[in-house]
Amino acid sequence: MKRPQFWGEFRRADSMKLKDLAALVHRLAPPDLASDWDNSGLQVGDWDQPVTRVGLALDATLATVAQAQAAGCDLLLTHHPLIFRPLKSLDRHSGPGAVIWAAQAAGLAVFALHTNWDQAAGGVAGALADHLELTVDRPLVPAAREFYKLVVFVPVGHEDQVKAALFAAGAGVLGDYERTWFAAPGEGGFQVPAGGQPFIGRPGEEARARESRLEVLVPAARVEEAALAVRQAHPYEEPAFEFQAVKIFPPGQGLGLLARWDPARDLFEELGRRPEFAGFKWAGPRPGRVERLALLPGSGGSYAALARRLGAEAFLTGDASYHQALEAEALGLTLVDLGHFETEWPGLKRLAERLAALLARAGFEAACQVLDQDPAWRRAPDKGAL
Ligand SMILES: [Zn+2]
Repeated sequence: MKRPQFWGEFRRADSMKLKDLAALVHRLAPPDLASDWDNSGLQVGDWDQPVTRVGLALDATLATVAQAQAAGCDLLLTHHPLIFRPLKSLDRHSGPGAVIWAAQAAGLAVFALHTNWDQAAGGVAGALADHLELTVDRPLVPAAREFYKLVVFVPVGHEDQVKAALFAAGAGVLGDYERTWFAAPGEGGFQVPAGGQPFIGRPGEEARARESRLEVLVPAARVEEAALAVRQAHPYEEPAFEFQAVKIFPPGQGLGLLARWDPARDLFEELGRRPEFAGFKWAGPRPGRVERLALLPGSGGSYAALARRLGAEAFLTGDASYHQALEAEALGLTLVDLGHFETEWPGLKRLAERLAALLARAGFEAACQVLDQDPAWRRAPDKGAL
């Protein structure tokens, strides 16, 4: 496989701290997209440590930590979390402990974008689909993201000041779209309390007002900020507003992909022609005419039945077990195991490209280094060209 060694120069960015960089990468892979069982995010480091050079690797290993140190990196951005299962000890000579010790000694922070990058639009699965020149239909399992919908009743003519305060508090972002809102006109009424100082009406009397029902999406992490913004910007003494828990399904976000394959092309011939996939494993029927493919980079073997149910004739993944191979056979589905490392590698290259572009847009003359990492498994005979 052709591996990028080093591209571009990551110049000094002395005002960039780890927490700033984390906020930036979370725009590519929002943290709430991560699965509950995952441990994406900070693995080792100090939120306030400066970041001037980033190395990327699928895994934090003794080898990638040493490379990152030699390249002058102060951050190692990985796909797989270094700390995943509960740590029982920080043994310097085994398991994640050895890597944590090495990273700490090198002053290297380790940060993971795992299932949140897996599920991001155009993330790990999207990069593999592009690598294979597939036409993507939709995610295999669309991501349901938990948001709050703020409903607030605002007197007509005052909507803009409330919206502006909400947008400044992080509300109204929907995918790439910002400052999104909805409003419908109506009428509201209230009894003004005796000692009240109402915006409309007089103390002790009933009042009516033409109001807009304003609706804005708020990320779960910013609900308190949005509530404060409403209280500050709303003209009423006692504004009426509520947050409703909602699920949204942003386009393109989710696990794996369903894609189309040109039936005139022989799937196995095409895969076998690529040195990175040479010697791939497969189970189930030898594919004939294939039109619909499912793919899920990394450990995706447990999604074979879903792939079949959604009409896939072949399912390309990166890690499948013996029993999952038997299941595929029973399902009449061609299950192809292309290798965990090999299926996730294009996603890492894409992450480096997108991060470099984001850093450049944020005013940093920067690029990222993809570290040279060997796949954990090798195939016999040796892959040679790899
Ligand atoms: Zn993986």
